[in-house]
Amino acid sequence: MRQIINNWLKISHLSNLKLFSALFLGSNCFLCTASQAKNHGLCEACLNDLPWLPDSSCPQCGLNSGGQICGNCISSPPDFDVTHAVFLYEYPVDAMILRYKYGDTLSLSQTFGQLMSEKIDVTNTSNPIDLIIPMPMHPKRLKERGFNQALEIARVLNQYLTLKNTAKLDYKSVIRQTLTPPQASLPLKDRVKNIKGAFKVNADISGKRIAIVDDVMTTGASLNELAKTLKQAGATHVECWVIARTLPHK
Ligand SMILES: [Zn+2]
Ligand SMILES: [Zn+2]
Repeated sequence: MRQIINNWLKISHLSNLKLFSALFLGSNCFLCTASQAKNHGLCEACLNDLPWLPDSSCPQCGLNSGGQICGNCISSPPDFDVTHAVFLYEYPVDAMILRYKYGDTLSLSQTFGQLMSEKIDVTNTSNPIDLIIPMPMHPKRLKERGFNQALEIARVLNQYLTLKNTAKLDYKSVIRQTLTPPQASLPLKDRVKNIKGAFKVNADISGKRIAIVDDVMTTGASLNELAKTLKQAGATHVECWVIARTLPHK
């Protein structure tokens, strides 16, 4: 499996086109290219091999805790109330996300968005959400990259989510007002300071229950800063919906 995926990750720009059409014609699996894929682009065997987040994670921050609210969340609660992560940030999901963000594999938004909708529909049925807000990107960064990876996942998620009857995709109410170095380029200890004051709410969100969509949650500094900003603007409940959760290094 690892060898097959390594080969896939090395595949050139050109043959990526072939994979792209394979995904949308619903034929071959995006990772192993050998088996029949489901409509999100992966076969059953590859899906089963992915590092799914265990059910034993802390419901508030997503770290492993035996399924209870963890000690950190009790002693210094984050500004968000719930975290749903689909995967652990481990191989090959880490490589898929990097490829999606910095490569040319935008079609992975289909895979990630659909898998996230399945996870949310299963685990979040009793928690109504009013707004789905993708992690905002600064306009300059958006221009450089050409797309906001969180927004593209949120669009697909919103299409497939059963909750969509109540939840509305909203990518306009919050903006990223400061251009800061990417969090991933900084040591963990500097990330809270880097992101402070970065977001601005432009609309009336008082009383709203909000889910923030992002690709990866590492320290949670960006998600926490956004959650704090949303709560200060009157949001009553904030959840983090992410593709992958990084566990602290042992
Ligand atoms: Zn496969
Ligand atoms: Zn926790």
